[in-house]
Amino acid sequence: MKNRYVTLGAILLATFCFFVSCTVAYVMWETPQKVTKNKTIVTSFYPVYIATMNIVDGADVNLKNLSEPKTGCLHDFQLTTQDMKLISSSDIFVANGAGMESFLGTVVKEYKNVKIIDSSKGIELIKEDGEKNAHTWMGTYTYRQQVKNIAKQLAKTDPDNANVYLKNAKKYDEKLKKIQKREKELLAKNSAKNIIVFHEAFEYTAKGLNLDVKYALDLDEERQVSAGEIADVLTHIKENNVKYIFAEKKYAKSVGDAVERESNVKVIYLNPLNRGKYEKDAYIKGITQNLDKIEKIMINN
Ligand SMILES: [Zn+2]
Repeated sequence: MKNRYVTLGAILLATFCFFVSCTVAYVMWETPQKVTKNKTIVTSFYPVYIATMNIVDGADVNLKNLSEPKTGCLHDFQLTTQDMKLISSSDIFVANGAGMESFLGTVVKEYKNVKIIDSSKGIELIKEDGEKNAHTWMGTYTYRQQVKNIAKQLAKTDPDNANVYLKNAKKYDEKLKKIQKREKELLAKNSAKNIIVFHEAFEYTAKGLNLDVKYALDLDEERQVSAGEIADVLTHIKENNVKYIFAEKKYAKSVGDAVERESNVKVIYLNPLNRGKYEKDAYIKGITQNLDKIEKIMINN
């Protein structure tokens, strides 16, 4: 009889000890995670992601990007439920700014705990009829400023990693400086100043090469181009003696073919760098390939 109570007592004690140790183990497991929680940084889209990827390299942070838009840029992009979840779980949200993210107002209002970084803050934007051109990443000069902006604001928000951010940004900027140097060499050799673009993104490319954009046709998504628009392009080619057009092959190939047939213009198909491989050097590679094409067709022909 006595033995039975002893056994029961031992079982109860063992069970109690088991739960206590489980709780202790759980608390020990959970607590350090909370204390050393890494910052989660979410970027709005591809070029901002690549810039931030270079800046946070080696820092203990989680870097994520919003879901990719169906067309290249963020024009008319709407946040998905998953995007909203991602932003609400983040500490820092890095935006291109300049009006590229039409949903930014909602983010500011709904997620008050998330620090917003506006990468194009203070940058002189290209304006047309009062409208801001938000494709700042396409100009090496403006992109360099964006990288600096992101690094500075990240350093302020996350002082633990400030040194890493600033050092990385400087290293990345050295590479970008070289690209800008090459642009200057190209523009010095170029004699064709007047140009037409088939996506506003290339206005920043043109500015870096000191080119004068005479006409911009927005072809950054699948759409029907009217005969009137093609006639307009042809008129501008003639009136301004335009020899080259910058365009994105994905959306502008058929219009490009049409104007090449009707005039002596040559369409140079460039990468708007709004999507691509998620690799640190993707931007540098893309912009270098763009310059290679421009050099081959505009300078060395
Ligand atoms: Zn665009």
